[in-house]
Amino acid sequence: MEYNSNMNDRLRIETLAVHAGERRPGPEGSVVFPIFQGTVFEVAPGTPYGEIPYNRLSTAPSQRYLHDKLRALEGAEAAVATASGMAAVTTALLAMLKKGDHLLLGDCLYGGTHSFVTKFADDLGWTYTFVDPQRPETWAAALMPTTRMFLVESITNPLVRVGKLREVAAFAKKSNVLSIIDNTFASPINFRPLSIGFDLVFHSATKYLNGHSDVVAGCVMGSEALIATVRRALAHYGAALDPHAGFLLARGIKTMALRVKAQNQGALELATFLEGHPAVAMVSYPGLRRHPDHDYAKGLFSGFGGMLSIELKGGIDAAERMLASLVLPAVAPSLGGVESLVTRPSTTSHSGMSPEDRARQGISDGLVRISCGIENAQDLIDDFRQALEKGT
Ligand code: PLP
Repeated sequence: MEYNSNMNDRLRIETLAVHAGERRPGPEGSVVFPIFQGTVFEVAPGTPYGEIPYNRLSTAPSQRYLHDKLRALEGAEAAVATASGMAAVTTALLAMLKKGDHLLLGDCLYGGTHSFVTKFADDLGWTYTFVDPQRPETWAAALMPTTRMFLVESITNPLVRVGKLREVAAFAKKSNVLSIIDNTFASPINFRPLSIGFDLVFHSATKYLNGHSDVVAGCVMGSEALIATVRRALAHYGAALDPHAGFLLARGIKTMALRVKAQNQGALELATFLEGHPAVAMVSYPGLRRHPDHDYAKGLFSGFGGMLSIELKGGIDAAERMLASLVLPAVAPSLGGVESLVTRPSTTSHSGMSPEDRARQGISDGLVRISCGIENAQDLIDDFRQALEKGT
């Protein structure tokens, strides 16, 4: 019997990552869906413009294949891939919001998302209010008659906190506001936000979905109607995903479950070690029992992800010495790949924010963000131990 998308509902995510979207038989019998590098395809006379296969319209065969895989991962009716994670968030917001609209924003966001809204809102005629995703009792006061959207992250970048996400989705629904979530840090292996009522979910697919630090891509998933609106906007902005990048992304997705489970385990072991180290002042990892969001996250996620952040007792200087002494993790921004990476967000992912905004979010200059790869956890622990010894 052939695999078909009607089976998606009863297959588990590990299986979906491999099989969803695959054509059987594939073109020319190929088991691996090939790259259709061509930009133009013959169509029947009268084919509506939006259905003509063309890469910028996100309707070409390689893109349709990838979209089928992506939507299955989040249990969505539809998906659209974008040229980067930033293209996913900017296109989703620009597609959904109009001049005069107001947004509620979780107060800890990826630096690029934060900068986009705070730097462009005035020009676009949007207003916004930052709210604390941990404190549902404060949200109603921030609502305005013009509020159209509530945007949060499933696990925040870089503080690795988990807001009251069920409550965000319920509050948005009750208030007739669109709920949208950046699920990059959790990945669909650990958490599927549409299942708790979010309207739209987006990813920097550059991270866990691709998983090999060799593709920049993004995606947005949701209902057929919402994604059609995002896809139409994307066709105008011209930020569709290139077929070659899409091929690499689909290949990466097939091993995502294995990778993310290894990263969940490695990050937990590393966080547990760091929590007990005398040079470490703070470890933020929701898998740790002492993390303030542990109990809530436990009820929501099937794993706590590969991201953690730490502060050292010796502050920035000790952090810099540790980064210089680590052998295995590269000192680099980005995350979610098979290799461990370390960075100080104040100098990279969140450097576009003003020092005051960073301070307000609680992002200290000494904060170190760790993206745990799939190395042996004991090797990572040994490396951090020697680096901390040198650094203190
Ligand atoms: N969202 C989060 C949580 C991120 O960490 C990033 C990048 O680091 C982005 C979005 C933007 O993704 P990209 O770099 O693929 O544009």
